[in-house]
Amino acid sequence: MEFVHNIYIYLGLIGTISFILFSLIIVVVIFLYAFVVCIYCPQKSPLFKFGKRFLIVIAHPDDECMFFAPAIQQIKSAFSRHPENFTDIYILCLSIGDFYKQGNIRKKELIQSCSILGVPSGNVFVIQHTKMPDSPHCVWRDDLVGRIILKYTNMLSVDVVISFDERGVSGHPNHISLFNGLSYLTDEDLVPVGCRFLLLKTVNKLRKYCSVFDFPLSVCEDGCVLISCPLYILRAQRAMRAHSSQLVWFRWLYIFFSRYMIINSLVELKKKNKTD
Ligand SMILES: [Zn+2]
Repeated sequence: MEFVHNIYIYLGLIGTISFILFSLIIVVVIFLYAFVVCIYCPQKSPLFKFGKRFLIVIAHPDDECMFFAPAIQQIKSAFSRHPENFTDIYILCLSIGDFYKQGNIRKKELIQSCSILGVPSGNVFVIQHTKMPDSPHCVWRDDLVGRIILKYTNMLSVDVVISFDERGVSGHPNHISLFNGLSYLTDEDLVPVGCRFLLLKTVNKLRKYCSVFDFPLSVCEDGCVLISCPLYILRAQRAMRAHSSQLVWFRWLYIFFSRYMIINSLVELKKKNKTD
């Protein structure tokens, strides 16, 4: 009997210690987050060492707020604070998201979502190309993607293009096609002079759904790390709600738990070495 009693005491002690440690970690992370966000000035954003005119290239309507909301809002905020340092941002979406035949609805949702994020409809371009269908089974031709991106890069005189990395965050082949398109331009020496490509870094699934708790790890990594303040997080969630045709139950989980709604880690795409 005494043995059972001791086990109960022992388990209770372990539970209490675990609870205290867990609470302590949460408090420390939230404190660090608040500290970094408070001292963080968007006009000093590490993004601006790369350029002043930005093009965000996405594959589907809703990618802009599911994955790139921190970057978009940081650029917009810097522009509104310092319009003299002319900064502009454009969104180029390479499909209308027609996999479930909802392309026309999704196009309107994209415009609405961008407007919530601060990007006017005149700065949003949506491509509908028969060889680039919205499909989880289709990899788009890298030269086709690359040349479309190049056309808009030149037309809009942007100096920074931001898109997905080689794992496309969710592994969607259309996302990965955007990376392939940018790599094509880099490897073929077709990148306009002064233009740089930044890629949204894919993290593992555990980190992906850690929300703000991925922040300590993110700031310790290489690259350009952008962190949204609470106001931006709420705005990103509002933009996501504009995609009402996509709001199935697991999207709500994504909205509340994904670190991409709060943190963007960007790395620069470099030309492959011939010996690689
Ligand atoms: Zn997508």
